[in-house]
Amino acid sequence: MIEIDERIAITNEERQFEAYCSDCKKMAQMATPKTAGILVDISEREVFRLIERKEIHFIENARVLVCVESLRDRRADSSTTPA
Ligand SMILES: [Zn+2]
Repeated sequence: MIEIDERIAITNEERQFEAYCSDCKKMAQMATPKTAGILVDISEREVFRLIERKEIHFIENARVLVCVESLRDRRADSSTTPA
């Protein structure tokens, strides 16, 4: 259901990847939930919560990778998050 581009390359920063995000419709920076959480200063658990609510883009391959851009966008918009 989610198209995954196999060309996942490790960037110079550990646990960050470039992968095709089907929601962004472009190559995007991806990170593991743990690293993504560190990047935007939330816990890994919170990242998984956002994944479950589909509030952020993610891909599931051998591992779950979160679209960092969507996470940053969401954070900028966090005041509008419904209760
Ligand atoms: Zn995305």
